[in-house]
Amino acid sequence: MSRVALVRCETYQYDAVKNAVEKGVNLIGGINKFADKNEKILLKPNILVGDNPDKHTTTHPSVFKAVAELFLQTKAILSYGDSPGFGYPELTAKKAGIYKVGNELNIKFADFINSSNVLFKNGIQIKNFNIVKGVLDADGVISIPKLKTHQLERITGAVKNQMGCIPGFLKNEFHLKFPDAYDFARFLLDINNYIKPRLYIVDGIIAMEGNGPRGGDAKKLSVLLFSNDPIAIDAAICKIINLNPEFVPTIKASIGTGSGVYKEDEIELVGDDINSFIDRKFKVIRQPKEKYNYNTAKGNIFSLIKNHFVRKPYIVDLNCVKCGICIKVCPSNPKALSWGNKGKDNPPEYNYSICFRCYCCQELCPEKAIKLKTPFLRKIFKKLYI
Ligand code: SF4
Ligand code: SF4
Repeated sequence: MSRVALVRCETYQYDAVKNAVEKGVNLIGGINKFADKNEKILLKPNILVGDNPDKHTTTHPSVFKAVAELFLQTKAILSYGDSPGFGYPELTAKKAGIYKVGNELNIKFADFINSSNVLFKNGIQIKNFNIVKGVLDADGVISIPKLKTHQLERITGAVKNQMGCIPGFLKNEFHLKFPDAYDFARFLLDINNYIKPRLYIVDGIIAMEGNGPRGGDAKKLSVLLFSNDPIAIDAAICKIINLNPEFVPTIKASIGTGSGVYKEDEIELVGDDINSFIDRKFKVIRQPKEKYNYNTAKGNIFSLIKNHFVRKPYIVDLNCVKCGICIKVCPSNPKALSWGNKGKDNPPEYNYSICFRCYCCQELCPEKAIKLKTPFLRKIFKKLYI
């Protein structure tokens, strides 16, 4: 049985967030259960990109501050950080408003650039991967994710937040290595099980629905979630946003691995009533992720099937500022996005035959210029997947 605490919080006004964070942590055992004096504790918010907090792409600075202040009471030695999808970690944290809080509280930004290769014998998808030094140097990690939708993994919550412990462009390379959502999910579980954060505190006060994790819309859910079980907390998120947890690859792939529990009768919910947070109209894809077919991935048949059934990214020309970030982050080799014959004065062009739909381009476009189109045949067959 895993415990998940839910606490209502209607605003990012600091005192309200502070009270809610204290209440939530107390409901799952109190702060001293998660850190001791002089231990090195790393706080890991979601700083996907350097967006203003009012875009709700990243963990809100008020939530980060409330968690940091609480942990300072333990006299642990705190640090924090995240490896963004694009750009320098500290610069990104500055733009997201997190760095200012770190300075105010005299907490140092950890090394999220350099990394070491680690061996994880219990890995189910992969046994070797690089983890940033800031995480490896810590005695314990406190994960502070943002509740958002995600096109490949349906949601980005507790499990996926640890993807930011992989340095820089290596993150994109793993998308290339594991184009199948379930393989990628097992990889995420491996990272998470290796790091094993002691506690997850999810910022769902204002979440992101629709075209997340960057291009979606803000959606007020007024909730903070607390647990030491990442699967249980992600399952609680699913209940709130009216999504079958088995449609989330990280939850589905966790079954039988001992990574956590997801069934309602295995989770003890405490705090405010979860039913008071449920948003049945929350915009999220309510279908299981289709399996990637490796055997035919290189063939024309797969391309045909892929182009007719798998949602494809496209650029809304009017919104594109021709920054080229989407080309830079595309992990396909050769790139599935290029400036094409028309040159850099025009939006990049897709080569859909080699695009394997990892959606990194959509995830990191700063202008929300990349959308996903559902192919016609997919719409017809949609009911088969529900
Ligand atoms: S689609 Fe987005 S990321 Fe790509 S060039 Fe245009 S604005 Fe930049
Ligand atoms: S074009 Fe976009 S979706 Fe396709 S492989 Fe490149 S980053 Fe992934």
